[in-house]
Amino acid sequence: MRAYKTAAYYTLGCKLNFSETSTIARNLHEAGYARVDFDTAADVYVINTCSVTDHADKKCRNIVRKAKKSNPDSRVIVIGCYAQLKPEEIAGIPGVTLVLGANEKFNVAQHLEQLDVEDAGKYIAGRIGLVREFTPSYSAGDRTRTFLKVQDGCDYFCSFCTIPLARGKSRSNTIAETIDVAREIESSTIQEVVLTGVNTGDFGAGTDENFFQLVQELDQLAIPRFRISSIEPNLLSDEIIDYVATSNRFVPHFHIPLQSGSDTMLESMKRKYDTALYRSRIERIKEKMPNACIGVDVIVGYPGETDEHFEETYQFIHDLPVSYLHVFTYSERPNTVAIKLEGEVPVPVRQERNKRLRILSEKKKRAFYESQLGNTDQVLWEAERDGDMMHGFTRNYVKVKRAYNEQVINNFETITLSEIDRDGIVKAQRKETVQA
Ligand code: SF4
Repeated sequence: MRAYKTAAYYTLGCKLNFSETSTIARNLHEAGYARVDFDTAADVYVINTCSVTDHADKKCRNIVRKAKKSNPDSRVIVIGCYAQLKPEEIAGIPGVTLVLGANEKFNVAQHLEQLDVEDAGKYIAGRIGLVREFTPSYSAGDRTRTFLKVQDGCDYFCSFCTIPLARGKSRSNTIAETIDVAREIESSTIQEVVLTGVNTGDFGAGTDENFFQLVQELDQLAIPRFRISSIEPNLLSDEIIDYVATSNRFVPHFHIPLQSGSDTMLESMKRKYDTALYRSRIERIKEKMPNACIGVDVIVGYPGETDEHFEETYQFIHDLPVSYLHVFTYSERPNTVAIKLEGEVPVPVRQERNKRLRILSEKKKRAFYESQLGNTDQVLWEAERDGDMMHGFTRNYVKVKRAYNEQVINNFETITLSEIDRDGIVKAQRKETVQA
């Protein structure tokens, strides 16, 4: 009989990485490795890395050191985007047993079995251009919500991005296979599924299926809520917007990367749309769903971004009815087109621009929350306790609070949004609780 061993996991980066770690942990569990906390002495440590994290190398070293301190005899496996980009470098970090690239990372259990006792500093990472396999994943550990990976990789090659190098070509399962995975979630207690991918809207690329068809099929399941994590504006078609507007399950919440409000910058970034198209998406959403919440990604300090370009961006966002921003400060990444461009923006200028947009984001969020006061919506209460309070989100992503009550966790409650508290979270008057 197989000896029961333990494995601990550390995940850096995005929701995709978190959902993939969950799948790898489930696979290892089946192979006889019980999941334990990262701070405990485990037999195996799996570190899922990210290439976008600043000082990825330093972080990786620290985490490996921590693992080895907890159990000097452990096996340390490093996977993820950074592992695909720099396998040799990571394999050289003292304490690393094995580095697995994008194609190999879902087979940790098999690779572990093939390791010899004295093995150290090994790496297996094939050419990313050859990776075609798609492994569906969804995150565990949260009773309320899961991130379901429906797509991986990207064919766009935006000039600042290393993701296509780390994750490979755009690929996904068929709709039927994706629905099979969603049915597993349907049979659990999870109430909300967030559709996640590197370029989610590119689902079905190269086949005769597409993201809109997937949305329609998922809508037939008995999962109460679906959220689309992020979608490129050029892939957010009228039909998707119109469908979400009438769906009871897909919520009126969109996250749409903009990156710059200057057409010159968008062209230089090799984005696949201009500001006119972006504006048309926002207007369509607001026309069909006046209470929709819209989040925006934006990058400041991209090479060649002059004060005028930045002001254009600021004004463009200022004038759009969007609800919050995720602001990223441009940083140079090896092997990108952007790193070779002229017009480097000094770091203090990048930071100043970031600050201005973060203040704009706060104002936008406040204005959005204020516009929602008096509205009635359903909130899904989450498990996390915040002192005497607990939080939940409405369908359109307004963060709401109430006095902690274990009984309502993972339940829906119909509430009226009454007041924005000093901490920026909305208080609610309760109407009814719907047991899950
Ligand atoms: S769309 Fe652009 S930014 Fe997004 S993953 Fe693809 S290349 Fe990177």
